[in-house]
Formats: sequence, structure tokens, C-alpha cells
Amino acid sequence: MKEILPVNGSFQLMELPYPELGQAVSAATLSYHHGRHLRTYVDNLNKALPDSGFAGRSLQEIVRHADGALFNNAGQVLNHTLYFEQFSPAATRLSEVSDIYNLLLRDFGSVEAFCKEFEQKGASLFGSGWVWLSADDSGKLVVTQHANADNPVCHNLKPLLTFDVWEHAYYLDYQNRRADYLAALWPFVDWQVVAGRL
Ligand code: MN
Repeated sequence: MKEILPVNGSFQLMELPYPELGQAVSAATLSYHHGRHLRTYVDNLNKALPDSGFAGRSLQEIVRHADGALFNNAGQVLNHTLYFEQFSPAATRLSEVSDIYNLLLRDFGSVEAFCKEFEQKGASLFGSGWVWLSADDSGKLVVTQHANADNPVCHNLKPLLTFDVWEHAYYLDYQNRRADYLAALWPFVDWQVVAGRL
């Protein structure tokens, strides 16, 4: 993923690339998630930036090195950017993207085994956070769960795919059924976007 830089001193709210994701995520959920939750993280990041010592640095550098409120807001901006950009109502299927498909087979044995581990780690994360597929520094793919605003870049991992398991990501549509939300997202993952992060 390329470094995300501020424009004239401020990080921009990304465009939401689609109004809804079929039956998986409603327009109401996406409207609140992007227009309220992500917007607040962007606004709070920009308010904290001038006196932080991180003005002009990339979003990824801030996430790697900042702490406290600056880290929390920058982390959530990075996490949500990766999340919203990786989905599409007309997603490129995994079977059409051979480089990531072959790596998943190599490191998890089957696509089904990968999806099962990813969903299990998403469903079992206690409280708020994110489940991730990342590449480690040897290129091996790994699934990890991280709390709150944490991101794989803080753990020497390259983030490839993430599902948001904060309640705000699914509660309007699924209430307490987090596992159903996780299972419903797969048809909308654009594997061309994921492979582009390798
Ligand atoms: Mn979220």
C-alpha cells in the first residue's frame, strides 16, 4: 500500500466507493460508518496534528510511531481506508487472482481453512478491534487479531485484508450476530485490491 500523505496539512476523508454491499452491509450502516465514525477519526486526527511533531508525515509513519489519541485516530483512519477500499459490489474473485490464491493455498492449505481461521479470529476478538490477513517479513501470510485502533504495521507485518469487528460496523444490520456479518462479507472482497497490497 502506498503511503497516505496529508494535503495542505490535513488528511482527507476518503470517498466511500459504493453506497451499500448487497445484503451484507446496508446503506444505513455504511452511511454512519463512513460519514460519522470515519469522519470523526479524520477530524480528530487533523485537530491533533499541528502540535504533535508529526505534521507532514505519512499516515503509516504516524501509526508506527505515535501514541495516545494521535495513534488511536490515525490508526482508525488507516484501518478504515484499508477496509472500505478492499470491497466492491462487483469484486474480482479470488480464483481470478492467482498470486494471492496460490499464497493462501501454500500458507493455509486451502481457501476454506483460511476463511475459517479469519472468521474465527474475527468472531473471538474480545471487545472492539480488527481481524487481519498480513504478510510477514519473509512473505508468509498470517491471520492476526488486534484490539481497538492497532494495525499490523505496528507489528512488522504488511496488511492485506481486514474486517472491522467494532460493533458500529455491523450492529444496525446484525445486532449481536458478529459471525454472520463476517461470513457475509466474502463475496464483496475485491481480491485484485488485496493482491495489489502484496
Ligand atoms: Mn469501523
